[in-house]
Amino acid sequence: MKTRILLLLAIATSIAAFFIFDLGQYLTLEALESQQAAIESYRRAHPGLTAVIYTLVYIAVTALSLPGAAVLTLAGGAIFGLLWGTVVVSFASSIGATLAFLATRFLFRDAVEARLGDRLQAIDEGINRDGPFYLFTLRLVPLFPFFMINLAMGLTALRIWTFYWVSQVGMLAGTIVYVNAGTQLAKIDSLSGILSPALLGSFVLLGLFPLLAKKVVEGVKVMKVYQKWQRPKRFDNNLVVIGAGSGGLVTAYIAAAVKAKVTLIEKHKMGGDCLNTGCVPSKALIRSAKWLSHLQRSKEFGIKQASADFDFADIMERVQSVIKTVEPHDSIKRYTELGVDVIEGEAKIISPWEVQVKTAEGIQILTTRSIVIAAGARPFVPPISGIETIDYLTSDTVWNLRILPRRLLILGGGPIGSELAQCFARFGSQVIVVEMAPRLLVREDSDVSEAVMAHFKQEGADLRLEHTAKAFIVENGEKILVAEHQGKQVKIPFDQVLVAIGRAANVEGYGAEELGIALSPRKTIATDAFQATNYPNIYACGDVAGPYQFTHTAAHQAWYAAVNALFGQFKKFRTDYSVIPWSTFTDPEVARVGLNEQDAKERGVRYEVVTYGIDDLDRAIADGEAHGFVKVLTQPGKDKILGVTIVGEHAGDLIAEFVLAMKHGIGLNKMLGTIHIYPTLAEANKYAAGVWKRTHAPQGLLRWLERLHAWRRG
Ligand SMILES: Cc1cc2nc3c(=O)[nH]c(=O)nc-3n(C[C@H](O)[C@H](O)[C@H](O)COP(=O)(O)OP(=O)(O)OC[C@H]3O[C@@H](n4cnc5c(N)ncnc54)[C@H](O)[C@@H]3O)c2cc1C
Repeated sequence: MKTRILLLLAIATSIAAFFIFDLGQYLTLEALESQQAAIESYRRAHPGLTAVIYTLVYIAVTALSLPGAAVLTLAGGAIFGLLWGTVVVSFASSIGATLAFLATRFLFRDAVEARLGDRLQAIDEGINRDGPFYLFTLRLVPLFPFFMINLAMGLTALRIWTFYWVSQVGMLAGTIVYVNAGTQLAKIDSLSGILSPALLGSFVLLGLFPLLAKKVVEGVKVMKVYQKWQRPKRFDNNLVVIGAGSGGLVTAYIAAAVKAKVTLIEKHKMGGDCLNTGCVPSKALIRSAKWLSHLQRSKEFGIKQASADFDFADIMERVQSVIKTVEPHDSIKRYTELGVDVIEGEAKIISPWEVQVKTAEGIQILTTRSIVIAAGARPFVPPISGIETIDYLTSDTVWNLRILPRRLLILGGGPIGSELAQCFARFGSQVIVVEMAPRLLVREDSDVSEAVMAHFKQEGADLRLEHTAKAFIVENGEKILVAEHQGKQVKIPFDQVLVAIGRAANVEGYGAEELGIALSPRKTIATDAFQATNYPNIYACGDVAGPYQFTHTAAHQAWYAAVNALFGQFKKFRTDYSVIPWSTFTDPEVARVGLNEQDAKERGVRYEVVTYGIDDLDRAIADGEAHGFVKVLTQPGKDKILGVTIVGEHAGDLIAEFVLAMKHGIGLNKMLGTIHIYPTLAEANKYAAGVWKRTHAPQGLLRWLERLHAWRRG
């Protein structure tokens, strides 16, 4: 901060000195012409020194964004001639521009980051992709003010080297014209006369050329991906959707709602992972486990003794009955009634406009203008030696269990592993969580992990942190995980293992490889900002596309995939990732939206943080759930919310208020001014805003008020 202020002062002083001492008088055409003979004689006497002084003055003028660069460029021609003038000006102007660019970045980039938050990421991605082309155009067309380009680009994430060389190349033509004019100084009577309209027109054309060329290259690329395919003359469908999980269902729903002819194909179960093996069963299981945990805490609630006689199989049957109850929401019947053609079968894309479907009745081929891939993800099973011999469970198969494992080893302390670990510990399994990282839920801040881990330990879960699984072996009939911990080998015996170390996108088996649909480095289907793949009529959404793996993000992307697939030729919509919330349904629940502290630090975003402890909240105390916190990150000195993490009972519900606030730019002041019902858990949100308000109270004014009150008391 200190360096920033010093630099700002130095720049401001230099600019002020320039104007106070009227140094601009030396950078006019008249001054140059009147001094030309004197400069020329100095140059003859000191050629090297003249070049050095000229270069330094040029760099200073451009780095400080002072007026006069055009006259200096003419001077370059007059002093050094066309060749050397061009060389000196070209380097001096590029170095000066880069210094101005760097100064702006150093001084103001953080403030821009704090203001724009996650939106800046999308802008930065665009700049990294197209920035050099835009910069080149701006540089080549001398109509755009030189200093404005330096300052504006400094606020973006454009790489320094790219800025330098694109600037140098882009400015070369203009530099030559001005330096050449400088060699004929006597003939120039105004700066504006140097560029004729014809010359300006040529620059504009030249400047637009790379952008047009880029568009042409993109067009050719698109033509190339389609060239080996025969486009059908007409289509049976506007849209074919592969996969009826959260992403596919919403895509089909939207398409049908806007009266498109849409076919939805599902090879396994309607509802996909969320309904059948993900959100729904896990939340149903968590409910039973929570119920048991309350029994174990009966004394806290004034009940001397409470016990439960339960059969694990019944709990698992309840999970299935919950799925059955929710099933109609995602059923073939409902979607057919909504106007979607649903086919139970396995889809394979055989051309950009044809999808082959294998059903019990046979094979059929559908033609379609567009396709949306929503094929989901599956549990990732790491290639650990011996894993194939131990009959491991995953989030796909754990729901088939009817006998409670005595010792359950859970590989992975992420959201899925943690949710299931706590459930099984509450049912009475001896749960061992093996995690490579030093804590559970590593994406969250460490105080969040600590709060969750404290509960886990209290409930008897054995947390083996910083343990790396190396091999599964069987010794004397006992299953054992061999892990490495701080350089030593550790053997962990268990009865059953649940692998929960992540989910891999389903990118094979439905024609994506054969078509050459590009993958991202994360091995998901690569999509652009509009959910389109490298085939502009094929889109992807949900877990198969990432980067998030949630039902609500799959549904969110689905809207963009459907609308862009159907109407993209007229208007395309960029997927909005500005405010993405999520929750991990452990006890305590963890919910987050926007930045947490570790993200903010990693991205270099400046923030202030306030925390309200839920242990102080009346309703939480009454409920026996007085634990957890609401942590809010704000823009320094402002009430703008950058991110929120809530740990505690119903955190996933409580965060909704912050999600709305962030989405619609509502700050903590407005939240504080909103009535929250007493006594509710939601009051925690308002109290967090209150903590922020207290830390930002105008202390000076309050001291005056204290004096005023004292005076009024007499
Ligand atoms: C244990 C667990 C708990 C979870 N809890 C939550 C939670 O609480 N909240 C949350 O937001 N998210 C949760 N998730 C994540 C959530 O389930 C997924 O993000 C979501 O299901 C992704 O939806 P999707 O449409 O992308 O994929 P999926 O739901 O996986 O659907 C893809 C569908 O495509 C079908 N398919 C694939 N290939 C073909 C083909 N060739 N032809 C026809 N059909 C095909 C599949 O059969 C599948 O039905 C959880 C996940 C798990 C595993």
